[in-house]
Amino acid sequence: MPRRGERRTARGLPVMREHRHGADVWVNQTTDALRRVHCICLDCALFKPGTPEHCAKAKRAYRFAVEENMAFMVTACPVWKPKASE
Ligand code: SF4
Repeated sequence: MPRRGERRTARGLPVMREHRHGADVWVNQTTDALRRVHCICLDCALFKPGTPEHCAKAKRAYRFAVEENMAFMVTACPVWKPKASE
């Protein structure tokens, strides 16, 4: 049974309407939760938000996401670098 406010995509994926950062957006809550755990940027030595050394690719991806009110997860990158402890 769908939750209140939930819709289904043509392929049956559940999406919910949410208000984020000043915009109404449709959210696949399942993959959105995975994004916060599985994005490989979070385990990359080049990911240093708020510093001058922060990854240029991640910066561009973030800027695009903010400009378009979208969210992405990086699952592949040609220059991912393990953190020193790995
Ligand atoms: S190098 Fe790739 S994986 Fe690492 S922070 Fe940048 S975009 Fe993310």
